[in-house]
Amino acid sequence: MATVLWLHGGACNGNTMSFLNAEYPSVCDLVTDFGIEILWHPSAGLEMGDQLKALLKDILDGKIPLDIFVFEGTVVQGPNGTGRYNMFADRPMKDWVWDLAHTAKYVVAVGNCACQGNIPAVPPNPTESTGLQFHKTQKGGFLGADFISKGGLPVINIPGCPAHYDWITQVLVALAVGRAGDLKLDEFNRPLTFFKTFSQTGCTRVQFHEWKIASEEFGQGTRKGCLFYELGCRGPMTHAPCNRILWNGVSSKQRSGHPCIGCTEFQFPWFDLAPGTIFKTQKVAGVIPKETVYEADKFTYMIHAAAARIAAPKWAEEDMFVV
Ligand code: SF4
Ligand code: SF4
Repeated sequence: MATVLWLHGGACNGNTMSFLNAEYPSVCDLVTDFGIEILWHPSAGLEMGDQLKALLKDILDGKIPLDIFVFEGTVVQGPNGTGRYNMFADRPMKDWVWDLAHTAKYVVAVGNCACQGNIPAVPPNPTESTGLQFHKTQKGGFLGADFISKGGLPVINIPGCPAHYDWITQVLVALAVGRAGDLKLDEFNRPLTFFKTFSQTGCTRVQFHEWKIASEEFGQGTRKGCLFYELGCRGPMTHAPCNRILWNGVSSKQRSGHPCIGCTEFQFPWFDLAPGTIFKTQKVAGVIPKETVYEADKFTYMIHAAAARIAAPKWAEEDMFVV
């Protein structure tokens, strides 16, 4: 048996929507098969008003043990560090977050906002938003770089905009069944089991990437061309299993003709959403992609690219899946 409390800060609720779609295991499976007791969740909790305040007080007083504190959304610190832009149960949410994070055995940040501040923290960041233990790529965030929960782990970050439901539920199960020690984290506290490979791993367009055949517009076939060369796909540089653990069990951005926007990296949103940087490959001299995974210099890259295009079979220019 493990208890879970889930709260929202500056959030769009996308991670909750994702979580409620979970399949392997589902949210019901968490309760019936894995002994997880959800103490409260903004979309599923029954307590309101004074009842909720009493529940939170009992948790902080230690009358109800808290095993896993899940936070979704940014920690809102504005205006002027007071946190009063985001009040919850008569207190700034940030004060609840501080107290609960120091009470729980484990703390889990779901989605980019909780991990690193995300879109709300893009300058000028009017809500003074930040993540639980990172602000963008800088370690620290709201709880501080040295924060360790009572269970001996830093904040476990499950990034994504939103995070995939299976990433969330499988981490919760690991913690609930006493396998926290098996969670290996990377430099951004992301579980390596999900964030070691790239969004490109398993992409159905990867042969077009090698042949340097570009998709030039959205909806250009379901699997024709690679979205890297013109449409800014960040699949080769983004740690995420989106083409191994599919969305809704059937698809991914790239499979549906949409470039990966690199949402699981802590620089997201890339280039702070500057005009001309979204869905557009940034290039040198209008030809060579600025960011590539190729280690060759730009001149060698151009020679390789030209050779790859010449070597590409004729059908690489067609959508072989459409008849
Ligand atoms: S579409 Fe994106 S993920 Fe797929 S092969 Fe091209 S660059 Fe890689
Ligand atoms: S494909 Fe890229 S943008 Fe889409 S969810 Fe995965 S990592 Fe995020």
